[in-house]
Amino acid sequence: MRIRIKPFGPVDPDVLDFLRTELRDLGEVDAAPEAPLPAEGWNQKKGQYHATSLHRESREEPGDRVLAVTIADLYSDGLNFVFGAATIYDRYAAISLARLGPRDGPRFRERVVKEAIHELGHTLGLDHDPDPRCVMHFSMNLAATDAKGRGFCKRCAAAAEITLRRLGT
Ligand SMILES: [Zn+2]
Ligand SMILES: [Zn+2]
Repeated sequence: MRIRIKPFGPVDPDVLDFLRTELRDLGEVDAAPEAPLPAEGWNQKKGQYHATSLHRESREEPGDRVLAVTIADLYSDGLNFVFGAATIYDRYAAISLARLGPRDGPRFRERVVKEAIHELGHTLGLDHDPDPRCVMHFSMNLAATDAKGRGFCKRCAAAAEITLRRLGT
């Protein structure tokens, strides 16, 4: 599959390059130029952006999947914050780097990759996995993110494979 990375607001180019490299196992990856954060997604009271506003702003992008990346803090309906959000079986995933710890911390990049793969997994039709080691496990906090691996477990990999094959990769 072809994955298009789309930064919303300034994102460290090193992190974007790192993601491009690390997501290659899933398909071809390229990056769009930086776009402004969508004003309609801003919630003044919360001081956060609604995650789906990034999905909407990704509609014009080419590629089988679009991964929006931002340093802005995101929330979603019923959740005070999210590390990321995605549309199940649709093209759109988004991740926020806001709560993944200090950028120069030893685990930051690994967390970014895990959250990116997790959200892309949703777009491949995967639901949350109770297995705490699988990347599709729902992380409520960073400890849970750190405890899980960056890969799909056997069961999730097999399910994702069906969609990946349909996309021709
Ligand atoms: Zn999830
Ligand atoms: Zn799994």
